[in-house]
Amino acid sequence: MMRATPFRYLAPKSLGEATAQLHAQGDSAMLLAGGTDLVPNMKRRQQTPRTLISLRQVRELHALEIDDKFLRIGAAVTLGTLTESATVRRHHALFRAAAQVATPPIRNMATIGGNLCLDTRCNYYNQNHEWRRAIDFCMKAPHGEAIERSEGKQEGVCWVAPGSPRCWAVSSNDSAPALIALDARIRLSSNLGMREAPLADLYADDGMSFLTKRRTEILTEILVPIRPEVRSTYWKLRRRGAFDFPVLGVGAALELDRNVVKAARIVLGAVASRPIVLDTSSLIGANLSDEAIDAFADRTMKSAKPLDNTDFQLGWRKRVTRAYLTGALKELRGDDPATLSLIGRRASALLPI
Ligand SMILES: Cc1cc2nc3c(=O)[nH]c(=O)nc-3n(C[C@H](O)[C@H](O)[C@H](O)COP(=O)(O)OP(=O)(O)OC[C@H]3O[C@@H](n4cnc5c(N)ncnc54)[C@H](O)[C@@H]3O)c2cc1C
Ligand code: SF4
Repeated sequence: MMRATPFRYLAPKSLGEATAQLHAQGDSAMLLAGGTDLVPNMKRRQQTPRTLISLRQVRELHALEIDDKFLRIGAAVTLGTLTESATVRRHHALFRAAAQVATPPIRNMATIGGNLCLDTRCNYYNQNHEWRRAIDFCMKAPHGEAIERSEGKQEGVCWVAPGSPRCWAVSSNDSAPALIALDARIRLSSNLGMREAPLADLYADDGMSFLTKRRTEILTEILVPIRPEVRSTYWKLRRRGAFDFPVLGVGAALELDRNVVKAARIVLGAVASRPIVLDTSSLIGANLSDEAIDAFADRTMKSAKPLDNTDFQLGWRKRVTRAYLTGALKELRGDDPATLSLIGRRASALLPI
């Protein structure tokens, strides 16, 4: 049986208490939300915090409300709660992303904050301690263990790209591409106060230092703009239909005037160490015809540069990106769902055995 190393457990009741504790505990502390990723990681020694600061009882993090500008989601709201909310359903991309994370029991524990701060993934890293020891670990956890990503000289080799000075582990959460497509903002709190930023800015292109937030900052709130004129969706590729991490996620949000694109935000997940925001300038002002969609998908599929460190064959994953971009745009245009499921099936038919 895999057991976590001993740790101290703190359960603050307010945000002020939580930020003070995080500041005081130093590098060896981590935040615990639902624990659905962190606890298994601790058992496999990918993360070995000496102190866990639980966010479960921090009352300020549990609100789910709307005002005239934003849907406001506290970081400790569970994905289960999101999928049951009629308000969230109106932000279709977020609903689809949350509803496809893991399984219902996990979604009832898992929080949106934990999902957005999810560790990056790689076939060489997401293994148990013994397996990783057999290959002498890797740059992401060179001694078998990693707590916080420290800056400076890196030790260990990257088995995906042995000459590389950086880690290429993949951003693998579902909600980030959906929420970035919806132009969401976040609030972060620390002992120094609160700041707000676009969610897209939370992510860095590095498999080890994949979050730009300071160690002492807690993600407290996600702000999703209320724009009834925006249609959105999220398409997810995964090995097992029942539940699995994404190997491709396409978050897309469009504002259309009849069939003409007024605004577009399209984001790829699970193809790099951070979500990739695509350049949609060629779509603006265009009629969303089959030709325009094909041209956009051809041009932008090149932005997907997955490496050989997650599921499925590399070349096939690139081709499916094109199919999923096409499908998401056609869905937002209002195409018949039967035609759309054909796109998914055709893509699957290309699946290498
Ligand atoms: C079988 C299985 C299947 C899964 N499938 C998927 C999937 O399909 N898609 C997917 O996206 N995920 C999947 N997951 C991963 C995980 O369950 C989810 O990502 C979940 O949303 C993580 O949230 P959590 O609250 O449990 O986070 P935790 O495990 O508690 O924390 C995750 C990380 O976020 C940090 N953190 C948490 N809250 C905050 C905060 N407020 N501020 C700053 N840092 C914070 C923690 O310190 C930790 O580093 C799966 C997990 C399992 C076990
Ligand atoms: S990409 Fe390289 S360094 Fe990063 S987890 Fe995988 S093998 Fe390790």
